[in-house]
Amino acid sequence: CGIVGYVGPRDSQAILLAGLARLEYRGYDSAGIAVIDGAGELDMRKRAGKLQVLRDDLTAHPMPDGTTGIGHTRWATHGGPTDANAHPHLADDDKLAVIHNGIIENFSELKAELLSEGYTFRSETDTEVAAVLLGREYQASGDLVAAFRTVVSRLDGAFTLLAMHRDQPGLVVGARRNSPLVIGLGEGENFLGSDVAAFVEHTRNALAIGQDEIVAITPAGVEVTDFSGAPVEVEPFEVVWDA
Ligand code: GLU
Repeated sequence: CGIVGYVGPRDSQAILLAGLARLEYRGYDSAGIAVIDGAGELDMRKRAGKLQVLRDDLTAHPMPDGTTGIGHTRWATHGGPTDANAHPHLADDDKLAVIHNGIIENFSELKAELLSEGYTFRSETDTEVAAVLLGREYQASGDLVAAFRTVVSRLDGAFTLLAMHRDQPGLVVGARRNSPLVIGLGEGENFLGSDVAAFVEHTRNALAIGQDEIVAITPAGVEVTDFSGAPVEVEPFEVVWDA
């Protein structure tokens, strides 16, 4: 299971796929990516099986590329390893994409709440509950970071969670609880990864995100807060890597 996020000037599909390949050693059963393309649309592709299955699918049926993107490899915990259960999960009329490593322990209560409000689901995962909840909160506030903060405060369990919205291009938000997430600092571009392997070929400058913290990355910079929105100090470190 692995996570990678990118914002910057470059097309992100190749960056995401290479990052996921570097995280393959962790094991996984499905893979997927989403990008916000040059026309401002959100495009997503996900497949059960090896990363090569996803690569072959993208080669046979190319998807528009874009400079904001997220990528995921899944190790199924809730719902079998199928295309539908693979991440990203979409919400808010497919304008919002969410990926997740970990387990949302209170997902069934949250799902019951959303079902009672008329929301529908396309997977059996705990993750899709976070996506749909984020869609609802984003509709209410129009502020992706604030909506994300509300959502993660309601989740129990372990999560590295990333999200991006078509209407907020150039922004990827992430959070972590009991599960790892690190920032890679580039020149005019920034990265997120479940470990530094996700971005080590692009930068060795990293920032550690603490327990129960949220990060927003844009091409211009990164902002880290706690779940209540208070800014927190982050600890820079240099990635030591023998390729
Ligand atoms: N619990 C989530 C799922 O089953 C995420 C699993 C993972 O960590 O990859 O889809």
